[in-house]
Amino acid sequence: MKNLDNSFLKMDRCSNNRLKKTSDMITFRKPFQWILIPTLLLFLSSCHKEIFVECEGFDNKGGWVVDPQFVEQMGSPYLMAHGMGEPVENASTSVDVPSSGNYHVWARTTDWAPGSWSSPGEFNIWLGEEKLPKSMGHYKGWGWNYAGKVKVKKGSAVVQLEDLTGFNGRCDALYISNRYRTPTNQQDYLLDMRNRFTGFVEKPGETLAFDLVVVGGGLAGCAASIAAAEQGLKVALIHDRPVLGGNASSEIRVHTLGIYGHFERILRMLDTEHYPNGSPLALEDEKKRHQHVEGYSNISLYLNYRAFQANTDDQLISSVDARHTSTGEAIRFEAPYFVDCTGDGWIGYWAGAEFNYGREPDSLYGEAWEEYGELWSPEKEDQQVMGSSVLWRTYYSDSVNVFPEVPWAMPVADGYSASWGTWNWEMISDRWHQVDHGEQIRDHMLKAIYGSFYNEKQKPGVEQLKLEWVSHLLGKRESRRLEGDYIYTFNDMRESRTFPDGVVQEVREVDVHYSQNKLDESKPDFLSEAMFHPVDRYYIPYRSLYSKNIGNLFMAGRCFSCSHVGLGGPRVMLTTGQMGAAVGYAASLCTSHQCSPRELYENHLSEYVGLVLNSNQDSSHLNTLSGQL
Ligand SMILES: Cc1cc2nc3c(=O)[nH]c(=O)nc-3n(C[C@H](O)[C@H](O)[C@H](O)COP(=O)(O)OP(=O)(O)OC[C@H]3O[C@@H](n4cnc5c(N)ncnc54)[C@H](O)[C@@H]3O)c2cc1C
Repeated sequence: MKNLDNSFLKMDRCSNNRLKKTSDMITFRKPFQWILIPTLLLFLSSCHKEIFVECEGFDNKGGWVVDPQFVEQMGSPYLMAHGMGEPVENASTSVDVPSSGNYHVWARTTDWAPGSWSSPGEFNIWLGEEKLPKSMGHYKGWGWNYAGKVKVKKGSAVVQLEDLTGFNGRCDALYISNRYRTPTNQQDYLLDMRNRFTGFVEKPGETLAFDLVVVGGGLAGCAASIAAAEQGLKVALIHDRPVLGGNASSEIRVHTLGIYGHFERILRMLDTEHYPNGSPLALEDEKKRHQHVEGYSNISLYLNYRAFQANTDDQLISSVDARHTSTGEAIRFEAPYFVDCTGDGWIGYWAGAEFNYGREPDSLYGEAWEEYGELWSPEKEDQQVMGSSVLWRTYYSDSVNVFPEVPWAMPVADGYSASWGTWNWEMISDRWHQVDHGEQIRDHMLKAIYGSFYNEKQKPGVEQLKLEWVSHLLGKRESRRLEGDYIYTFNDMRESRTFPDGVVQEVREVDVHYSQNKLDESKPDFLSEAMFHPVDRYYIPYRSLYSKNIGNLFMAGRCFSCSHVGLGGPRVMLTTGQMGAAVGYAASLCTSHQCSPRELYENHLSEYVGLVLNSNQDSSHLNTLSGQL
């Protein structure tokens, strides 16, 4: 992948064009010269100098991490100091200062835990040799915080972000100007401003063509890519993280559950051992996964690219646009077929695909289960879905470890203490939407973790207990469910219904979660409980794996076509991986028959099922593998 020089992110707005125009004026007739020259000099001396820096594009990120999870919510990827209570190394980059003088500096940042305590995310900005007078991260909500004024010499200067707390300070962008004028924070204007400074435009500069574009590199996306590539398709796999695996990645560390169905050979390239959630063993499985996916010469892997738009024409997707999460470089990906494996159903959402969110009334599909009543399936529909989690882990070190006070976390932890967090650290909320309020949910979980760990550390005998790892990513379970020709429900599992196109199968019980706090208000709101309904083998039809109204869109993963309770069984990653493999094969046959996903079901079903049943045969004869695996 091309490594772009990100100097385009830093611009002097006293541009050449403008100067050129001004100097042209000097050729005016003599009498005007005496008026124009001083005016021109005055203009030049007062010329507005501005520098804009997207922090995620910093040359050296130090100990700060790039967080692109909430772009649709707050406008951009950003840098975050995720030090678990220990300040992280400075992030730095160089900027070209157009002329010597005084410069005002603003940071777009937020106080993520506002209250009557000092901000947990406090950091300083340095420009050249000078530290800006005011520390950052004190205002509630994303906005431009003024850091003060500093004298800088013309030429290259280093900007640094100095983390003061280790508790998730964050910086989206810096605005440096010789005039005191706070930039806009209004989303549309802000976007215009970013585009103006960075040179980003609506239409990406580069367009690439593929047979299949897969977005989202969780188990489903990886399996879809492999299955399609083995059948000879030229595949683009676009993923917004540096590593593959989604919730199974080393960044989130959930182990894979479920069965392999017809796709054992493919899924064994991608799955995990049954380690405890949060285990660093996830790293080993991740290496295996990368080795396999990267071994296919016809899978082009676009890591750290986040899709931000699906372009449609007459209910068909013509292309998907994705942007690099650090450099901002955008690429347009064209293909006849697309697979939405983003979990949140982003591609379908942007394309105008019909989707569902929330819990259906029990009467709609007859999904009631008396044992749990409302907790399982409500009488009236609502917007509550299974929640998102942040996994974390501790260890006993050789020496005593002091964990700082975290008063800002206490209202959430509220006396609860814990030394590790597994699957049931889950935020299920009526007030927060799992996509639109993702950042609030992640931050709530961070407060829950830091606060509970602080409480634990107050106990005797745990002096050496230390935080080993806290994910900074939300592990999600449920959000948008794209609607296909068939909506898969609890009864399909409960009754083990069979389908002529039942290409995915599972035996795992159906489990749906509720917040512990819902039944007992004294319990923390960040812990959940699972309800398990036993089932026999069940089957998922291919018709739940393509959109009912976007003619060339497949979906695999937790955004497949199902009801809220219908997701309860098949959301685990070997089942979602099966879905991926199933759509990868389907895309290959759609390509050879030049037909839509629906027409494949209507006209070529037996051929498709035959291909699925043959999946476990070694396909190396197809010569799409490069090198040794
Ligand atoms: C705490 C927890 C415990 C769980 N326990 C288990 C378990 O034990 N076993 C099990 O199998 N399952 C478990 N699950 C469920 C399972 O992990 C999820 O349902 C599953 O990961 C869904 O798979 P997916 O491929 O649809 O999504 P994901 O795994 O979330 O993968 C989708 C990927 O797409 C990327 N993406 C999203 N939007 C974009 C975009 N616009 N552009 C580019 N990339 C994008 C995301 O970064 C993400 O990595 C658990 C879930 C949680 C949260």
